[in-house]
This record gives sequence, C-alpha cells and structure tokens, in this order.
Amino acid sequence: MADMSPYKIKMPEQEPYVRNKNFDEVSFGYTAEMAIAEANRCLNCKNKPCVSGCPVHVRIPEFIALVASGDFLGAYEIINQTNSFPAVCGRVCPQERQCEGKCVRGIKGESVAIGRLERFVADYYMQNGSKGVKIAPANGKKVAVIGAGPAGLTCAGDLARKGYKVTVFEAFHTAGGVLVYGIPEFRLPKKIVASEIDGLKKMGVEILTDMVIGKVLSVDEIIEMGYEAVFIGSGAGLPMFMGIEGENSLGVYSANEFLTRINLMKAYLDDYDTPIRKSRSVAVVGGGNVAMDAARCAKRLGAEHVYIIYRRGEAEMPARREEIHHAKEEEIDFKLLCNPTRIISDETGAVTHIECIEMQLGEPDASGRRSPEVVPNSEFILEVDTVIMALGTSPNPLIRQTTAGLETNRKGCFVVDENLKTTKAGVYAGGDAVTGAATVILAMGAGKSAARSIDEYLTQKQ
Ligand SMILES: Cc1cc2nc3c(=O)[nH]c(=O)nc-3n(C[C@H](O)[C@H](O)[C@H](O)COP(=O)(O)OP(=O)(O)OC[C@H]3O[C@@H](n4cnc5c(N)ncnc54)[C@H](O)[C@@H]3O)c2cc1C
Repeated sequence: MADMSPYKIKMPEQEPYVRNKNFDEVSFGYTAEMAIAEANRCLNCKNKPCVSGCPVHVRIPEFIALVASGDFLGAYEIINQTNSFPAVCGRVCPQERQCEGKCVRGIKGESVAIGRLERFVADYYMQNGSKGVKIAPANGKKVAVIGAGPAGLTCAGDLARKGYKVTVFEAFHTAGGVLVYGIPEFRLPKKIVASEIDGLKKMGVEILTDMVIGKVLSVDEIIEMGYEAVFIGSGAGLPMFMGIEGENSLGVYSANEFLTRINLMKAYLDDYDTPIRKSRSVAVVGGGNVAMDAARCAKRLGAEHVYIIYRRGEAEMPARREEIHHAKEEEIDFKLLCNPTRIISDETGAVTHIECIEMQLGEPDASGRRSPEVVPNSEFILEVDTVIMALGTSPNPLIRQTTAGLETNRKGCFVVDENLKTTKAGVYAGGDAVTGAATVILAMGAGKSAARSIDEYLTQKQ
C-alpha cells in the first residue's frame, strides 16, 4: 500500500542566506531513509504516464520499486539502461515538465520526487557501486564525435558499448560542454560530471581537448583520417544580444562569457585570480535557466543587488521552477514585465545605469505564449554597474562554414532527417546544434538516436 501523503519528502539544503555567499551545492540530497519513504509514495500505475514524459524513457516505476525495497544498485542498473548520466539528470532536468509533470500523484498533491530519487540512486552508485566497466569487443570501425557535451558524450558512450573505436574532439580544454562551462558548481558539482566522463574513458572512449574543429582540423580531414562516420554535437554557444544603445559598454557580458569565466576559468574558487568584474549592482536580462544561473553567480561573487529583468510574467518564465524558487530565496530581485531600452555609461565607457520600459501581455503568439507589448511612457532607470545578457544562443557557424555540403537552416541549426543524418554522407548531428538551445536530456536523447543510426549505417555499409 502506497504512502498517500500529498507532499514530497523535502530534500535538505543550505540556508538561503548562507548559500548565496558560497558555490557549494545547494541541495544535500536524500538519505537512504528519505529515499525509501519517498519511493513508497509511488502508486506503480499500470499505464506509467511518467515514462512517457521522460525523453529517454527511463523505466521509472521499476527503479522506484527497487528503491522502496532498498535495492539501490538494482535501481541504478534499471536507470542506466536508458540514461548514461543519471547524476546529472537527477540534478538539472526540468522534471516538472517531464516525468513529474505526468505523475498521477501530482493531480491531488505533489508528484513523486522522481528527480530527487534518480539523483539519490546515482550518487549511491558513485559511492558504493561496482567500478568495473564492461569493454565491448572491438568491431574495427572508427567514429568521430565533435563536441563533448551531453549529446556528443552520450553518442560516444553508446557507440563504444557496441565495439566502435570512438574519438571525441572537444574545442575547450575540458570535456562536458554546458555541464562544465555553463551550469554552476552550486547546481551541478564538477566532480559529478568528471566522474560520469571517467566512466566513458574507462570504456575506451578517447577524448581529445583543445581541438576546435573548423580550425585545427576540418570535418573532411577527420573523414580522411579513417573515421567512417562523424557525429556533430557542437551545441549552441553563440550568444544573442538585444542591439540596444550602450550594449558595447564596459561591464556588459553575455551570460555565456560571464558563466565561462566563473566555471571553466574558476572565478568561483577563492585562490584563482580570474579576470571578472566585482560588481555592486547587476542586471541580468532574460528568464531562462541561464539567467537564473548568472544572477545567482553574481550574488555569490558579492554583488549587493541583483535584478532579473524579464519582459513577460513569472508564469511564462522558461527557467525550471526550482531555480526560480531558489533565486528568489537568495534575494534576487525579479523585475517582471519590463524590458531594457538602453544602457547608460560614464565618460570612461563603464556601465552606470540601465533604462527599462514596462510591458504588458497581449494576445498569444504562434508559440501559444502571450506576447509582451510596451506600455507607452513607462520608462524607468535602475542603477547598475554590470549588465548580463541571457537572451538565448544559436549554433556557432564555424563547422558549417568550413564543411562543404553541410546544410543549416536560417537559425544556423544543422538540417537533419529523422535518423539525425545531415545533408553530408556519413555525417550525423544532434543536440542543441540541431534544435537550438534546449535541455540536457533532449541532447542526450539525440546522442542515443544518432548512435543507433550510425550503427545501422555502418552495419549496412559492410
Ligand atoms: C547556463 C546554462 C544552464 C542550463 N541549465 C539547464 C538545466 O538546468 N537543465 C537542462 O536540462 N538544460 C539546461 N541548459 C541547457 C543544456 O545545458 C543544453 O541544452 C545541453 O548542454 C546541450 O547539449 P549539447 O551536447 O547539444 O551541447 P553543449 O553542452 O553546448 O556541448 C557542445 C560542446 O561542443 C563543443 N564545441 C563547439 N564547437 C566545437 C567545434 N567547432 N569543435 C569542437 N568542439 C566544439 C563545445 O565546446 C561544447 O563542449 C542550460 C544551459 C546553459 C547555458
């Protein structure tokens, strides 16, 4: 008989006024007792709506039943059959719109805390599980993967499991993609990502860093080196700007640059002298996860005042509910229904203020969201010394520009068919490089699908 409590077991976390001054992980995770108690809230429904809500179809009720019985390693085996990075997904997936959004328990109370349980199981495995890795017999074929983000790494892992010799070419000096350069330490500790990547290396996946494809090597040169198929998982790292007056002032960052300085260049560590502005008052423009991360990082670096400026209302914000909730607890000031109109600087060119205008919501647009409209004569000014633009990103054009026969659409995303095959023979693509900025789990799902397609292609080619 399931525990019918309408509430999730709370996950212990650092107090807001403590954590907004450090970069340690916000949430501590469940204990075994908490995980078992939460697992007992699952009804083990016959039609399993949660599984249909998961882009990689983790067999959720099965793993939860094993957690309830205390078989945590068994639960890990079930998750790992469809999800290669459960410690990551348990922490950053937007569960409220996926598995948990479909949970029957969510109708009359809170859904089962599927994400927290996934995180618990993955962390338990990391501490107690077998470190033995099965190495598949080599099939003599080489595949290249461009980009070591969740799409590329998932594709690499799935192909290695089938016996392919896989080499990943990564532009940065560290593998992980957005998981290491974008998402901050307090949400996803670097050691978690490193441990998941370590597992891939043990399976024989070779990861070459500082390899900007399109500069160091071209896709055609990779093919000439004997790689029989190529997967492009190069993400969407090119930031967008508003094009407003003053955007070139000193102290205006793209969120990508700001977060890369903090994460990859280690400004989050006290003993690193990373060049980054020590701000007093910061405006972050945008309403997604990236905006929340930038705002919460700015606060942790010591800013007294941090604003989120978003042109729609809170209900329309694309960020995960948990991130919005945490940001508010950490004293981030939400200025909703307003949009910047210009950035004002002093005689040295440094930002001093941001001018905004109030917005109201009109009719729904093609995406179904109500469009923001300007409220005439409602301009106001905020005193800030740093502005961070978190307005979205698109794929970097470098690979397309240096590869003949590789088509992209008007947003710069690679054109692929239903098997993720691009317009160039033997070349596949997936993740943000195809969809534009999306989510970790969708990128992983694309990496899996591409690995299946590449395997079929190379098996037929023999
Ligand atoms: C700050 C931030 C927070 C986010 N928070 C969340 C969240 O909470 N939950 C969630 O689900 N999603 C979140 N996302 C989105 C998610 O991280 C991405 O959708 C996901 O990482 C996409 O994976 P990917 O593998 O396609 O690309 P990426 O993770 O971008 O990886 C692409 C990799 O390719 C490399 N690369 C690019 N060009 C080249 C080249 N020419 N040669 C070689 N290598 C190259 C890049 O250096 C990078 O390592 C967030 C994104 C950001 C920026």
